[in-house]
Amino acid sequence: MKICQNFQTIFKYFNRCSQADLEVSLEVSPFGGMGEEESSNSPAEVDNKGLYDLIGIPPQSTTDDVKKAFRKKAVKEHPDKGGDPEKFKKLTEAYEILSNPEKKDLYDRYGMEGVKNGGGGGDMGDIFSQFFGGGGGRREQGPKKMKAKMREQQVTLEEVFEGKMIHLNHKRKRVCDGCEGKGGANAKQCTACKGRGMVQKLQMIGPGMYSQSTGPCTDCGGDGTIFPEKDRCKKCKGNKVMDQEKVIEIPLERGVPDEHDYQFYGESDEMPGVMAGDLYVRIKIKKHDVYERKGADLYINKKITLVEALTGTQFTLKFLDGTNLHISTKPGEIISPAQIKTLKKKGMPCYKDAMSEGDLHIRFEVEFPLSGQLKSEQIEQLKKVLPGPKQQQKLDAKKTLYLEEYDEAHVNSNPEGGKKDEEDDDDERGGHGGQRVQCAQQ
Ligand SMILES: [Zn+2]
Ligand SMILES: [Zn+2]
Repeated sequence: MKICQNFQTIFKYFNRCSQADLEVSLEVSPFGGMGEEESSNSPAEVDNKGLYDLIGIPPQSTTDDVKKAFRKKAVKEHPDKGGDPEKFKKLTEAYEILSNPEKKDLYDRYGMEGVKNGGGGGDMGDIFSQFFGGGGGRREQGPKKMKAKMREQQVTLEEVFEGKMIHLNHKRKRVCDGCEGKGGANAKQCTACKGRGMVQKLQMIGPGMYSQSTGPCTDCGGDGTIFPEKDRCKKCKGNKVMDQEKVIEIPLERGVPDEHDYQFYGESDEMPGVMAGDLYVRIKIKKHDVYERKGADLYINKKITLVEALTGTQFTLKFLDGTNLHISTKPGEIISPAQIKTLKKKGMPCYKDAMSEGDLHIRFEVEFPLSGQLKSEQIEQLKKVLPGPKQQQKLDAKKTLYLEEYDEAHVNSNPEGGKKDEEDDDDERGGHGGQRVQCAQQ
């Protein structure tokens, strides 16, 4: 949960960065919060076994072993099968790290601290100070890590009810293995920017007025180096990075809230000398035709006729697990219009507490017969049966007001009070004026 909370502030931070067209985030904020609890400055004793223990394999096992063991264990430990959701989350987190060769390597050598800090290296701090000015911009222990990325994953309410492993095809940039991220051979310093990657640009903002700005060099694409065409890496065409597809496994938990973010360490883009950013997958639950969800509770609207309201109603309802619920009023029970009734424990599973569930609430809408549908003898019979005044009050026929249709388009016929007067034509004034003032005062 802590990760999710941190994320908002991180995101603000990233947004600020992107205004300056920065591709790199200096500060690895996503780990900031976690570090408070787990950081220890003495690298003497590193725990690089814990994650393997979680998956149940010996330390330093291969990524293939990790994958095989995880699959087996995930099936057993899945909250659907009665596994502890918290434990399952830890298991998937362990898998995220150990199934990624770079992160596994960091973990094997430095433990969690290594994974979090990404091993350091590079000198992106200098680039940052170029952008933000002031030498003080460099941070003490800022591992160089790419921006986090956010994706959305639509799921159905049924999927959230059941919980499942979702497979998401994800394309991210990885350092080219053809040139090891160099882009080619025989690199020469770019003459346009003298190898700095950045150039001063003059832009005309008005007649005779120019503004000066610093931007990436177009000759070398901001790299500061240029390759002879023949030495350019064929695999990445000199881009240093390549698109790589990966299937991300999202362990959708039962009862997960809408807009929940799953974090995948290092599954965003990577750059030479900069470790891969994190991927966040935000769960978006599609609107359901029948069920409305509020926390762990479900609501449905149910239309019944007046006869059903008075004499009882029985109906079946397709539930989120695919079964049919057989629902009935109790003998003698009467449903009033807009009444809400509840089926206990027929709601969503509680998030992080898959053993308990919310309730299902049914809002009844009672459909009355239409005017003219009842014959006078039926009306007399109803009067005998139903409670209420048996004799109607006698009214003066001349003074009786008959009810008319309610027309929504003509409610509050003078909504702006007396204001309408101003828009009226001169000749319409006079006689009406007095009445409108009365209206406005009401
Ligand atoms: Zn390459
Ligand atoms: Zn250049």
